[in-house]
Amino acid sequence: MSSSSPAPLSLSEHLQQVTEHLAAARTPRDVFGVVLTPALEALNAVAGAVLLANEAATTLELIVTQGYEEGAQTLWQDGPLTGNVPAGDALNRREGLFFEAQGDLVRAYPELEARTGAVAAVATAVLPMFLDDRPLGTIILDFREPHHFTAEEVRFLRTLAAQCALALGRARLGQTLEARVAARTAELEEQRAALDAFVTYKEAVGGESDVLTLARQAIGVVRTTLAHVSAVYYELDGGYWMARVWSDDLPPEVVAQITAGVPQDAPNFAEAIGLGAPLFVNGWDALANGVPSSSSYGAVALLPLVIRGETRSLFSVGTREARAWSERERALTRAVARGLGVTLERTEHLRALDEERAALSAFARFTEQSTQASDELTLAGLARDVLQATLDVQVGYLELEDGRWVGRVFSEATPGDVTDQARAGVPAGSPTFSRPFEERGVVFVDGWDASGEEAGSGMSGAAALYPYTEDGQPRALLTMGTPKARGWTERERTVFRAVGHSLALAFERLGQTRRVEHQRSELEARTRALEGFAELTRDLMVEDDPYAFVRRAQEVVLSLLPPGYALYYERDGDRWRNRVQTGQVGHEELQAFINAGPLTGVTPSVDTPWTTGEPLYQNAYARGSDTPPQMVQHVGAAASLPVFRRGEVVGVLIAVLFGARPWTPTDRVVLETVVRSLGQALERAEGLAHLAQRTEELRRSNAELEQFAYIASHDLQAPIRAVNSFSEILATRYGAQLDGRGVRYLGFIRESGQHMKQLVDDLLTFSRVATEQRPPSPADSGAVVDQVRRRLMPEVEALGASVTRDELPTVRVDRQQLDQLLQNLIGNALKYHRLGVPPRVQVAAELEGDVWRFTVADNGLGIEPQYFEKIFVIFQRLHGQGAYPGTGIGLAVCKKIVERHGGQLWVESTPGEGSTFLFTLPAG
Ligand code: ADP
Repeated sequence: MSSSSPAPLSLSEHLQQVTEHLAAARTPRDVFGVVLTPALEALNAVAGAVLLANEAATTLELIVTQGYEEGAQTLWQDGPLTGNVPAGDALNRREGLFFEAQGDLVRAYPELEARTGAVAAVATAVLPMFLDDRPLGTIILDFREPHHFTAEEVRFLRTLAAQCALALGRARLGQTLEARVAARTAELEEQRAALDAFVTYKEAVGGESDVLTLARQAIGVVRTTLAHVSAVYYELDGGYWMARVWSDDLPPEVVAQITAGVPQDAPNFAEAIGLGAPLFVNGWDALANGVPSSSSYGAVALLPLVIRGETRSLFSVGTREARAWSERERALTRAVARGLGVTLERTEHLRALDEERAALSAFARFTEQSTQASDELTLAGLARDVLQATLDVQVGYLELEDGRWVGRVFSEATPGDVTDQARAGVPAGSPTFSRPFEERGVVFVDGWDASGEEAGSGMSGAAALYPYTEDGQPRALLTMGTPKARGWTERERTVFRAVGHSLALAFERLGQTRRVEHQRSELEARTRALEGFAELTRDLMVEDDPYAFVRRAQEVVLSLLPPGYALYYERDGDRWRNRVQTGQVGHEELQAFINAGPLTGVTPSVDTPWTTGEPLYQNAYARGSDTPPQMVQHVGAAASLPVFRRGEVVGVLIAVLFGARPWTPTDRVVLETVVRSLGQALERAEGLAHLAQRTEELRRSNAELEQFAYIASHDLQAPIRAVNSFSEILATRYGAQLDGRGVRYLGFIRESGQHMKQLVDDLLTFSRVATEQRPPSPADSGAVVDQVRRRLMPEVEALGASVTRDELPTVRVDRQQLDQLLQNLIGNALKYHRLGVPPRVQVAAELEGDVWRFTVADNGLGIEPQYFEKIFVIFQRLHGQGAYPGTGIGLAVCKKIVERHGGQLWVESTPGEGSTFLFTLPAG
């Protein structure tokens, strides 16, 4: 029996079988197959179904049925997961629903049959399934007969549902994993394809560096990989995306439109640029994007190429089918665009390096040569040469002159009409020329429209301008241009910037050098002027006109300052007197005002330095303070300095300038130095004046003395002669009648008379030194000494003396006076000898500069040093008349003679040894 009809399986056996089968189930469908059949069999149900909830548990879907008639409607249909259907309720209540007898189900859900158009089974079980607490779905079993669900059956069904849920979860998980694996595989596949495309592209381009060739190759690769697409390479140019390269399949009308340019703000283009990433457009709006002719294209992709942070080119693909771009297409296009981007970037990088190198070497060359240049035009010429050597451009250098930009330096290649026009000058207000100064930097003009300028038609094309300022004001422009209106490349911009900047630095350096030079030369001029002044005041030692110094000081001051004039005021009662003026005051009434003498106390420019003793500097002259203002409209600045003489202000020197001037510390030092020197010169001049006065007084008293001596000696001669003659007569005729005392008295009278005669004679001689001098002429001094010696021979012999001489020179003298001089000196040398020592007198002479110094040396008594001066004074003697007769006039006469010849006489002596009289005389 068991072989023909196996005993029906028990519920637990069924469960065991189900568990085994479920282990092999892979898909949800497998699971339901495995679960449903044993469930039906075990409970003898006629049909069953499985409904599954969606992810969100909002709907139920009929997944599988078993046992229903083909094509028959069942109650179990797709629908919302609500509470008013059995499946929903079972899930909500989290327990199985069991309808055991006919009509039970319809009673519980009256509308169910009507809504589904199906008839309910006699008995039904609805079993909810949960996975991880989430509603998964329901298993439904329908019975043809009423069915009582035993506790065992209910447990069986619950277990079955739970197992089913687990298996379903496992199957789903497996499916998800598989799907993931499949997706990943597809992705990898795409990536591999994209990489292939990339590699293919990179291999194709090799070392190519031409942008358009690179773009063409990218289009080629895209076209071979995705046969059905068209491709275009665009570049941004003046606000338009200009197609530069495109695939051959592109319709001519599209080519015409995209080469004319797609506006930068075309929505999809703008969006792609905004994203900075590829944009895949599924529904292409040809019209909105400004390319109406491309309406045959259904989908377009725009891939911005970001190069060095800038998006100036774009790769685009399109297909005529209106559809979504597949992942593979996206990946491939992206890969090619990336390849193109990377290559362009590398090319761009190399080019930038090249540019940098070119700019650097241009910079270096310029810097090297610019240190030699000493003026702006040479520097501009160097800048031009460097630019020309580096770029294919025409260079110009313009300077602002009288409100016009005037061309100074040009490229040789510049057309003649352009240089002519530039030399004639362009008005400074021209917008393009003003822009670099307004923008404070280099300006690149891609499309130069000269018609707006007065520059004329010759200067068309692209231009670049580099501005140069001086004290914030426009001064010059370096320009480069090409006749073609085109955009400047980065390289051109870089080089121009570098050279322009170098030129600015060179200008700055030149300015600095000039400033230093200027300062130095100014300082030198000042030093020279001051030295000149100091020297002049020294030379003017004998000058006793103080105003000559003032004038010189004014000249020095004015020579160091911008145009103006100088005044020198002294006080005269209640007025200021202008004693010295240098330069024109430049206003007739003002001059009259100055000449009239401004009143003291109301003329601050003079009053202030006078009373304070301090200089007054007015950077901006206070017009109207000293004079009515209309007289001094032309006066800009003034400096008033007190002039001191022996600590007292004696005048005020004023330097007036026609322009305003901030009196710098240097100005002040110079002015104050000059005025201080002036004070010193004035003091010296005053000293000289005093000296001159005293000399004059002395001269006068001397002359008076001489006059007196002459008159006295002359007038005294007659009475002395009378006294002497009559005392002689008295002695001869009446001598016998006198007693001894009378004879002695008469003797005194006769002696005194003789002495007086001697005195008067000597005095006369003394006065004649001055009155009877003959003009000097060359005289042989040796011969004069010999003559004197002969005359003195009797005395020489009587004393056993010797008078000798060296070789003696010819001198320019009054010969008779020289004779008198030597006679007195040699005579004294013999007279003042030591007792018992035979006198030795030696005359010699030595040339000293342009004078002869004579010496008359003896071995006589000598003179005490305290008498060295006294002996030369008239009537001064050291010895009594008795010991050595004399009048004390001899040496006074000698001194006078020597001094009359411009020489000096003095004595050197050692008492008890001898004396040497020394005198100088001019060489003959
Ligand atoms: P006198 O010879 O008439 O006295 P001098 O004027 O010649 O007047 O001389 C003035 C004085 O100088 C003399 O009295 C004498 O004392 C002194 N004296 C001049 N010559 C000499 C000399 N060679 N040696 C010493 N004393 C001299």
